[in-house]
Amino acid sequence: MDSFTIDGKPLYVKRDDLIDPRYSGNKLRKLYTLLQTPSNRYDTIVSYGGIQSNAMLSIAYLAKAKGWRFEYWCKKIPAWLKKGPVGNYKTALQLGMIIRETDNQAFYEKIESLHQNINDRTLFVPQGGADPLAEEGVKVAAMEIVSWVQTRGLKELTVVTPSGTGTTALYLRKHLPATIDVVTVPVIADAKALKMQWSKLLPHHESLPRILDSIGPWPFAKPNPTFYEIWKKLREAGIVFDLLYAPKTWLELLRAYDRLQSPILYLHSGGVSGNASQIEKYRYRGLI
Ligand SMILES: *Cc1c(COP(=O)(O)O)cnc(C)c1O
Repeated sequence: MDSFTIDGKPLYVKRDDLIDPRYSGNKLRKLYTLLQTPSNRYDTIVSYGGIQSNAMLSIAYLAKAKGWRFEYWCKKIPAWLKKGPVGNYKTALQLGMIIRETDNQAFYEKIESLHQNINDRTLFVPQGGADPLAEEGVKVAAMEIVSWVQTRGLKELTVVTPSGTGTTALYLRKHLPATIDVVTVPVIADAKALKMQWSKLLPHHESLPRILDSIGPWPFAKPNPTFYEIWKKLREAGIVFDLLYAPKTWLELLRAYDRLQSPILYLHSGGVSGNASQIEKYRYRGLI
């Protein structure tokens, strides 16, 4: 846990980004069960999603370590990227990822049929690792937080973490005691879609993370000068966060700071390896 101050507001940061240089923060948590799985259990892992996804890169490392084939399905890849791969995409290709590009319109149909036709030797991992498989590893992170709280003798705490699929926030909520508030910010979907995702993962679960969303939806990964500004400010304050999920989450967190029970702990979920390609995007748009 790092102590961290921004805008004169003290808080803590749990540095899950530093656990392992290969697996991006919470993706390591989500892949925990698979990392423990004997390599002879599968020979192929199939997944899908964005072309610079942090989950994609983490699965590529996992597949490499286990000797599994890794087939990754994505929508149309921009011609410039195909010609000169960069970022997570480049690293994943170097690790042996087999990329399967498909028509944008037919994408989800294709994924559905892949999922239906999977065999016993192949593991299918949904986009972003949104799968019950993720629970065990997120529980480990929750237990680490609980033991830190006990060591410090804290009566209350707020844990803040961004939501893409919401998998991390939901399983944290499930495995943290009620004295710890779990707060999240929808970064990919809106609040409604996030709740739907939660009900798919844990039907009938009573206790859900609390959602902060005063900013409202913003297209995922689309450059936003306000996001860049807070990201830079965080970096100047001493910690490099990811440029996709952290900025909106920090903006909401700082707005709500006085209303949240203290102390506040931000769970750093990694993703810093994606910053280079995201910064390129800002440059390309003339925003920096
Ligand atoms: C993947 C990722 C998230 C989203 O995690 P979910 O469990 O899908 O909500 C948040 N932050 C970073 C840095 C990530 O890489």
